[in-house]
Amino acid sequence: MTTRIPGLHHVTAISGPAQANVAFYTGTLKQRLVKKTVNFDDPGTYHLYYADPKGSPGTILTFFPFADAGPGRAGPGMASAYAYAVPKAGFDAVMEDLALKAVSFSRPDLRFGARVITLRDPDGAPVELVESDSATDAHGFHSVTLWERDPARTARLLTDVFGYEAAGSETSAGVERLRLKAPGSERANIIDIIRSDADVKGRPGAGTIHHIAFRARTQDEQDGWIDTLATAGHRTTDVIDRQYFNAIYFREPGGVLFEIATDPPGFAVDEPLATMGSKLMLPPQYEPMRARIEQVLPKIRVAT
Ligand code: ZN
Repeated sequence: MTTRIPGLHHVTAISGPAQANVAFYTGTLKQRLVKKTVNFDDPGTYHLYYADPKGSPGTILTFFPFADAGPGRAGPGMASAYAYAVPKAGFDAVMEDLALKAVSFSRPDLRFGARVITLRDPDGAPVELVESDSATDAHGFHSVTLWERDPARTARLLTDVFGYEAAGSETSAGVERLRLKAPGSERANIIDIIRSDADVKGRPGAGTIHHIAFRARTQDEQDGWIDTLATAGHRTTDVIDRQYFNAIYFREPGGVLFEIATDPPGFAVDEPLATMGSKLMLPPQYEPMRARIEQVLPKIRVAT
């Protein structure tokens, strides 16, 4: 088995009301809304996808906005933060731009030698911006942080099964951070694992991450992962058609929901690349209910 995971495909989180979420991610963070669709398990609510202009794997952040979602809180066994990679040369300009817009963010901190700032999205989710030598724009993920009681088990899955490599550890403000990197990949290729013995209990809800998805470049690769994971003792779901990718899911040993999603077919499968995200797209099973669904969903406006 020589296939390795090349990095993250997407991150999926839960938010409160959709409009505030859209305004923040398309306005403040300048991501593109590449798909406006519904939660396939609950077509009365949106599923929103933000990404780079093409909807490339490794740039995709998706939300299930629930108007009445209670606030959640990250804890052990959950993914606790996502970080965008910002080109090093443009990092100061990004901070100035945020300051001009009166967006508050943390003082720059150093993490493995790179500056990182943390913003809060409208639901309080931490959004990290990390300066990066390899980033060419501010759309791709740098990393995701997992919060674990026992980082070793999760790290072993990433190294022994997914092909990640240990890339060091550091302790800052009493928090130990372990870094793992997918070799040969420049974007969305880092998983950080933090450990905390504090007696905190996470609570799913607005402002928390629901799951993280890793990339399979082809359907063959995804099929291979089902067998490889089974051999390693991780039972996955069957392949689920998510319209823009196929998905398999399993829970990693620490409790975080992991997905492996295929690159194809991508977001231009049901509407033109140039206008992606402007129209509500429904999977075939919900198309007959379009009028009712459009009536129920709140109107949202993308920042221009
Ligand atoms: Zn997903």
